[in-house]
Amino acid sequence: MVTANVIGSGPNGLAAAVTLAKAGVEVTIYERNAIPGGGARSVEATLPGLMHDHCAGFHPLSVNNAFMVDAQLDTFGLEWALPEIQYAHPLDYGRGAAAHRSIQHTVQQLGDPAWQVLFGPLARHFAKLSADVVHPMLQLPQSPIGFARFGMRAGLPANVLAKAFRTDEAQALFAGVAAHAFRPLHTLGSSAIGATLLAAAHAVGWPVAKGGSQAIVDAMLKALDHYGATVVTDAHISSVADIPTADIVMLNTGPAAAADILGSAVPDRVASGLRRYRYGSAAAPVSLAVEGGIPWLYEPARRAGTVHVGGSFAEIAVVEAQIAKGKMPRNPFVLVGQQSVADPGRAHNNIHPVDAYAHVPAGYPHDATELIIRQLERFAPGVRERIVARSSRTTADLEADNPNFVGGDIVSGANSMDQLLFRPRPALNPYRLGPARAYLCSAATPPGAGVHGMAGYNAARSALEDLER
Ligand SMILES: Cc1cc2nc3c(=O)[nH]c(=O)nc-3n(C[C@H](O)[C@H](O)[C@H](O)COP(=O)(O)OP(=O)(O)OC[C@H]3O[C@@H](n4cnc5c(N)ncnc54)[C@H](O)[C@@H]3O)c2cc1C
Repeated sequence: MVTANVIGSGPNGLAAAVTLAKAGVEVTIYERNAIPGGGARSVEATLPGLMHDHCAGFHPLSVNNAFMVDAQLDTFGLEWALPEIQYAHPLDYGRGAAAHRSIQHTVQQLGDPAWQVLFGPLARHFAKLSADVVHPMLQLPQSPIGFARFGMRAGLPANVLAKAFRTDEAQALFAGVAAHAFRPLHTLGSSAIGATLLAAAHAVGWPVAKGGSQAIVDAMLKALDHYGATVVTDAHISSVADIPTADIVMLNTGPAAAADILGSAVPDRVASGLRRYRYGSAAAPVSLAVEGGIPWLYEPARRAGTVHVGGSFAEIAVVEAQIAKGKMPRNPFVLVGQQSVADPGRAHNNIHPVDAYAHVPAGYPHDATELIIRQLERFAPGVRERIVARSSRTTADLEADNPNFVGGDIVSGANSMDQLLFRPRPALNPYRLGPARAYLCSAATPPGAGVHGMAGYNAARSALEDLER
């Protein structure tokens, strides 16, 4: 029987493991933490019984992607739940903007037809677009015309694309979603991740996993159990020499860590490419238990799963440029997850779990709780009095818990134009690490960050194709 070792049990490691195990490979997964799941775990971060998503909370690229269809995680208990409004963006004096599932409804509320002109075609053809964006860029797109249409928007700096909008609301709504890239909004390609997430919002929504992101992990663990795979926890692997040999090795790690773990098994040329991989800005998260939820002045934000906090396009552009230069702004961009809006069972006795993070410079050493609460107070006065419990993490805490988040970079690598196109290094098959049947399967490979499992799925498919050859 063919054997595989998977090092790391983040969503991509587990997706690779499920794909291999389902194909009949004998899989063993090694995870350094006591609990598997990496960035898709959920924990009682504030109060007993109140489940917070430890990292990822919203999963726009997970619905019906090739891995999810192949793995059929719904048969292992996974259910999605959508908020009424996908994401919202409060502005001063109770103004704001909101992204609804219906693009027509969104445009009506925004009063800005440019939203429809720019993003309508992407949302309409999202199934084909998403099939292309979850694969390495050097492969031929399945839908060349659609992909070219996407590229014309995605390649632009966000501040250039934003000029198409005539209202402050539309500009701000776009800034919030573009900021997910952790890139200054004037840089080439800084529209790419925003345009993808935005099209997903109108096509499939930004769902949560019912019960918490942990439900995605639990479904994958159930599938692995079903296919006879083994999970070993509390096992930090520094070298492949530490574990029994296997025909295939999957690394759900950073690129440089993969080179270290493989040692001489990886060709020098590949190893130096992996060590050149760069990380970007960081996040500092805080989990809050909020009585009655956040009292946003802009009412639709109370019905949104995700709320982007940072004010106008111009304000967000300034602070994103500052953090890229290593300077901490007084009023950072803050991303707020209100999972109980989509999944009301997550709240207990009217106490709602809220997970927020501020964008901060790489390695920022301080706790960001106070900066985050100040930003929330600007758009939701009185929120401070509603917080009954809290817990926070610094960038160092993030990296200590998961070495893939280098310097607190929660998207596992800078989304610069070159790394958007070729990650972790320019190669026809970015997963394969040379002739030794070793593969990188983390978010440092295409399609990048997120709990979609597609990096793991693509890497496992490469391994299976190599075996067939
Ligand atoms: C605060 C925060 C909010 C986020 N929000 C979202 C969101 O809403 N939506 C979204 O899609 N994404 C979000 N993300 C990003 C998402 O969590 C990651 O992109 C995703 O988890 C990456 O998956 P992965 O499988 O590549 O690796 P990871 O989830 O990073 O997991 C890697 C695993 O490998 C283990 N490991 C590493 N090295 C070793 C070793 N040497 N030996 C053994 N085990 C090892 C780690 O302990 C970890 O369990 C967020 C992340 C954070 C931190």
